[in-house]
Amino acid sequence: MRFSILFTPTLKESPAEAEVVSHKLLLRAGMIRKVAAGIYAFLPLGLRVLRKIENIIREEMDRINAQELLMPALQPADLWKKTERWFQYGPEMMRLKDRNERDFALGPTHEELITDIVMKEVRSYRQLPITLYQIQVKFRDEIRPRFGLMRGREFIMKDAYSFNASIEELKKSYDDMYSAYSRIFTRCGFKFRAVEAASGLIGGKVSQEFMVLAEAGEDTIYYCDTCDYAASQDVATTRLEEPSAEEIKQSEIVRTPNQKSVEEVSSFLGVQAEKIVKTLIYKYGDQLAAVLIRGDRDVNEEKLAQVLGSNDFHLLTGTEWQDYPDLVQGYVGPVGLRGVRLVADNEISVMRNFVVGANKAGAHMINVNVGEDFQVQEWADLKIVKAGDRCPKCKEGALISAKGIEVGHIFQLGTKYSEAMGAMFVDEDGQQKPYIMGCYGIGVSRAVAAAIEQNHDDKGIIWPITIAPYEVSIIVLNYDREEQKKIADSIFDALGSKGVEVAIDDRIESAGKKFADADLIGFPIQVIIGSRTASSGNVEVKIRATGERLEYPLDKAAENIYELVQKLRSEISLEAV
Ligand code: ATP
Ligand code: MG
Repeated sequence: MRFSILFTPTLKESPAEAEVVSHKLLLRAGMIRKVAAGIYAFLPLGLRVLRKIENIIREEMDRINAQELLMPALQPADLWKKTERWFQYGPEMMRLKDRNERDFALGPTHEELITDIVMKEVRSYRQLPITLYQIQVKFRDEIRPRFGLMRGREFIMKDAYSFNASIEELKKSYDDMYSAYSRIFTRCGFKFRAVEAASGLIGGKVSQEFMVLAEAGEDTIYYCDTCDYAASQDVATTRLEEPSAEEIKQSEIVRTPNQKSVEEVSSFLGVQAEKIVKTLIYKYGDQLAAVLIRGDRDVNEEKLAQVLGSNDFHLLTGTEWQDYPDLVQGYVGPVGLRGVRLVADNEISVMRNFVVGANKAGAHMINVNVGEDFQVQEWADLKIVKAGDRCPKCKEGALISAKGIEVGHIFQLGTKYSEAMGAMFVDEDGQQKPYIMGCYGIGVSRAVAAAIEQNHDDKGIIWPITIAPYEVSIIVLNYDREEQKKIADSIFDALGSKGVEVAIDDRIESAGKKFADADLIGFPIQVIIGSRTASSGNVEVKIRATGERLEYPLDKAAENIYELVQKLRSEISLEAV
């Protein structure tokens, strides 16, 4: 590729709208351009990176015998009505009508469509298992499209679906997919972790997310400093302490005028937040739930949604309190509380002699105990864990928290979609059964951004060589000088013929501009050809990631650069997987 004909409009300054590094650098390096909020065009270099990631994905999908197909983005509403998702998906689904007023959606995902295709063709257990995948554009009208490619409204996803005849077969498809994902993200050069995850709206029980570790990540994950436990915040939990050995005391009401928050009560009574139990009142439908949680903890609303069986709930708001005169805002507690569903975080079960609101203005109760002062029927894990909490899996470890970018998600779906759509096969025993399904996504365009979040410096992008737009860039300081042109062209041709992806900066531009662009775009290897090259007989080579500079004799230059390319390629190896 010659820079003189390349369309890569680089920018000196970061556009003001970009908040995160990957967004800034993708714009500055001329790899993407914004069309509308959450909608981007890939320019030639950005597209090359996307294609490289796609190719790694294809190779690893094919390796586990998944077959590629391509479904339409435009999908009839009828299919979505069969599973009720037409009504559940809400405003995130982009909907439209055709000229005959028929409803359509631009696919946010493809479970319905793929199930419809497979159910018409696959009738016997003998034809199972089947895993199909596509790499295709998805549409989701996100509330907050942001961070460039990280959260788009139109984005590229790899989505795969397995159709299995038994749970064991599903587990095998799922495990194959898990190892394929590990290989894919290793080959992309990512530092990542697979974590236990919640399934959300998509259904199913077992699921794991693949998280690229980066500060800009929107997700929080927890992992153990000792064993292999790792979970996303929505499912991460902790091992409870042993029940407190304190002797149970007699509860009593104490005056706490104007002391409502945990901090206020804690300093007023001189007790730690860990000795206080908060009572939070949530409204769901026309019912109320009182959630008990330790004073220093917060409620994870994803976990609460599972317990309440609804996504539609909120903390009682200012004016709503007036509808419930028995509840004293700021002083609600579990003792004597009526007409409210009481759910306690399981950590309360190991606490003794704690403080709660007394259901009277300006008063709290001290030395309260479950069993003595009130009963709990419904225990659940509702807390957001914290770094330092005990690992739930091993005896010794403590949890560490990190920020992550979700680049992949794999689910054991079960029969949710096949049952809803009547997608059946005849099993070995002659019985009609719904397929047991799995679904497996990768955010391909998000992965481009994730790579940059993990690999950059103040000068620009530092691509892992496996996904770089080109592996080597030859920077020719004066391409109009015959001597430099000759050396550069011969290295360019020699590397190209060995299968190296090579670019040549043959523009009539200042040396400064060429160096700055090469660092900004992030080619892993830069080869510098100037007036000194011929006179010294040496070619200068810079490794972008380390800044290391090497000199190769002219007559061996192409060969040595090729070896360096191979070395960098092998450093992103699969040995660790
Ligand atoms: P998120 O929690 O980030 O919204 P999700 O759980 O909705 O993701 P899935 O439905 O599992 O995502 O989609 C599969 C993959 O597609 C995700 O793991 C992620 O990498 C990617 N993805 C999802 N939404 C977007 C988006 N708006 N922009 C870019 N990639 C996305
Ligand atoms: Mg989402």
